[in-house]
Amino acid sequence: MSEIKLNPCPVCGKIPKVKMDYAYKASGFGAWCTIQCKPFFRKPHLKIENGKSTWERAYKYAAAHWNEATEEMKND
Ligand SMILES: [Zn+2]
Repeated sequence: MSEIKLNPCPVCGKIPKVKMDYAYKASGFGAWCTIQCKPFFRKPHLKIENGKSTWERAYKYAAAHWNEATEEMKND
């Protein structure tokens, strides 16, 4: 799997957790990638989910989306 460096969470500065799951059948995707910052007992500051046909694509798109979102939040 090609590694894309993830930006830290723009709210708390922590590196996000990456979770790979088999997608729900109904979604039509084979691989599901979730990237999120998850503080204990609280809602994630930022959460990105992406479904694709392969793990590598799911991660690549989710990681790119995560980095984009962190940049946008920094500019707010
Ligand atoms: Zn955070």
